[in-house]
Amino acid sequence: MRQSEMLLPTLKEVPADADISSHQLLIRAGFIRKVAAGMYSFLPIGNRVLRNVEAIVREEMDKARAHEMNMTVLQPAEWWQETGRWHSYGPELMRMQDRHEREFALGATHEEEITAIIRDEVKSYKQLPLTLYQIQSKFRDEKRPRFGLLRGREFLMKDAYSFHGSYESLDKAYERMFQAYTNIFSRLGLNFRAVIADSGEMGGKDNHEFMVLSDVGEDTIAYSDTSRYAANIEMAPVEQTYETSTEEPKELEKVATPNCKTMAEAADALGHTLAEGIKALMFNVDGKLVMVLTRGDHEVNDVKLKNLYDADMIELASEEETRNALGTGFGSVGPINVSDDVEIVADNAVKAMVNVTCGANEDGYHFTHVTPDHDFNVSHYADLRFIQEGDPSPDGQGTIQFAKGIEVGHVFKLGTRYAEPMKAKFLDENGKANTVIMGCYGIGISRTLASIVEQYHDEKGITWPSNIAPYKVHLLALNIKKEEQQELAERIYSKLQDAGVDVLFDDRKERAGVKFADSDLVGIPLRITVGKRAAEGVVEMKERHSGEQDEVEEKEILDRIT
Ligand code: ATP
Ligand code: MG
Ligand code: MG
Ligand code: MG
Repeated sequence: MRQSEMLLPTLKEVPADADISSHQLLIRAGFIRKVAAGMYSFLPIGNRVLRNVEAIVREEMDKARAHEMNMTVLQPAEWWQETGRWHSYGPELMRMQDRHEREFALGATHEEEITAIIRDEVKSYKQLPLTLYQIQSKFRDEKRPRFGLLRGREFLMKDAYSFHGSYESLDKAYERMFQAYTNIFSRLGLNFRAVIADSGEMGGKDNHEFMVLSDVGEDTIAYSDTSRYAANIEMAPVEQTYETSTEEPKELEKVATPNCKTMAEAADALGHTLAEGIKALMFNVDGKLVMVLTRGDHEVNDVKLKNLYDADMIELASEEETRNALGTGFGSVGPINVSDDVEIVADNAVKAMVNVTCGANEDGYHFTHVTPDHDFNVSHYADLRFIQEGDPSPDGQGTIQFAKGIEVGHVFKLGTRYAEPMKAKFLDENGKANTVIMGCYGIGISRTLASIVEQYHDEKGITWPSNIAPYKVHLLALNIKKEEQQELAERIYSKLQDAGVDVLFDDRKERAGVKFADSDLVGIPLRITVGKRAAEGVVEMKERHSGEQDEVEEKEILDRIT
């Protein structure tokens, strides 16, 4: 590719709103341009890297026996209503109406759509297991889009879904995916850890996050170099001191607002923001009812137990006080009304966990209810002491250290979380109808790209690992007006192209200083400079990563590269 013909705008200045290296460098080096908060266009050179990352992901997915497909971005609201996520996903789910006022979600993830397809197409155990994936833009109206590609509102994801007739079969697919993820992030040259992660609303099932170690990461992981143990600290359990409640779940429906036809009206009437899965832990300490509300940086729809780590502990003497706190105490999601017949589940010694849900019933009326949470193993969080640096590892090897991590991938055994409400069933060997068992597996492709830049850069620019670099060779003609330089550079350019080497040829009429600076910034692994010794057929070759350089004769160039 000739640089003179390319849209590759580089910047000397650091963009004002870019505060981490990957964001600054990807903009300065002409890989991406901001469109709006959390939305970026990929310019040609950025697009090449994106495609290279995708190619590695594709190869490993195909090896793991997954089949690529392509679903729609717009998804009918009905599916999301079936799983309850039309409401529970909250404002992060982007929505739109068509001209007939039919509602759609812009795909934030595709469990609903894929389950709808499977429900129609898979009837028999003979069609299982199945693993499907796609690579596609996802839309999430993040509360705080930031750090460039790391937390976008429109971003590229690889999302895979597997379907099974048995949990054993799911376990096998999960293993394969886990291995594929390990291969992908290793091939991308990333320093990463697979960590045990919080299963949030789903409760109890296996799931792992793949974390790139980086100071700009928003998660903290606990790991040890001498042990296999690694966990997101939101998940790292400590000693168990209490038992889990054994009470049967019971739903205590609270406030109905039958006159409200829209979500907004109902939310107004209830005086709250629609949200689901807000948790409160309640237990009895020395005869006092103590409640821990989950608080902090809620993503409203996706309230996870990690918030417990920053939890406020409120000590309450009476049930009435507890109720009052439930009515007002939920921090960033606003007050939640709970009417008088709420039964707070907390007996003498045993703690209970409740879910506070603001949702909708079948008629579209909105309500709040409180249910004891029995999936959640309360005992893990019993004394609210979390693992700390310097602790021994849980498997008896080494000591715990902490590091910041960027979540680049997430693998999850979903079980029947989606298939059950969407009634995706198959007939087993005995002709009996069973619910399909499911797993899901995501990789943030654009986030991964930025994570690579976080780990591969220096003060001058990006230092791409060679298998995902936009080009393998950056060919510079220092003074294109000098005939001998132009001729030699053109000849090398043709030879490299003929040999199938991806080469970017800086044939611009720019000063040498500009070309060197741009070349360091863009970060192509190998630079060939045609300059002063062009008349003798001698060029300079320099490795971007190591900085090693030497002079090479024209005829040796190809041998040195291939
Ligand atoms: P996070 O905890 O960072 O918000 P998530 O747990 O909500 O991520 P998942 O639903 O597990 O994300 O989605 C799968 C993958 O998609 C994530 O592991 C991550 O790599 C990527 N991803 C999620 N949200 C974003 C985003 N806003 N911008 C870029 N990539 C994202
Ligand atoms: Mg998220
Ligand atoms: Mg996460
Ligand atoms: Mg995740």
